[in-house]
Amino acid sequence: MTRDVNVLLPVARTRCLAGIDRCRNEGLDIRVTSTLRTAEEQYALFAQGRKPYGTVCYARLVAKLPRIEPNENVTVTKVLTSIHQFALAWDFAIIVDGKVSSDHSLYLKAGVIFEGFGCVWGGRFGETVPGRGDGWDAGHCQYTAGLTLDALKAGKRPK
Ligand SMILES: [Zn+2]
Repeated sequence: MTRDVNVLLPVARTRCLAGIDRCRNEGLDIRVTSTLRTAEEQYALFAQGRKPYGTVCYARLVAKLPRIEPNENVTVTKVLTSIHQFALAWDFAIIVDGKVSSDHSLYLKAGVIFEGFGCVWGGRFGETVPGRGDGWDAGHCQYTAGLTLDALKAGKRPK
């Protein structure tokens, strides 16, 4: 699992970087926390909170992710296949006073900025992505040029 923006496909990378620049200019201390994921990594995340601790540990071992403690075996993702696997999504955190902020208004501000560059913000999944109404994810952003997950799975890529 990487937080390297350079591994994103160019159509997503340029929008991600432009959005980050704008966020910083508007006073948000924004950090990218995750970009590309392998299928093994996404499976390990999906297993978390759904499978027994030992199963999750093994999935993380296969995915080369660090071990978690038993009390960390809680749900962290809703999807088994993610836009992250197609190098078209990034997660971000807003830092305030050296800590990850949970102030939703700051995530809304960043989300609106990314939307200004044509991205889909996870905080508005319920309104903008069919079938993702239960996937509220304020620290997630993606750019697929309108391609659905099914289209990406079928091999289509944004131009
Ligand atoms: Zn995400």
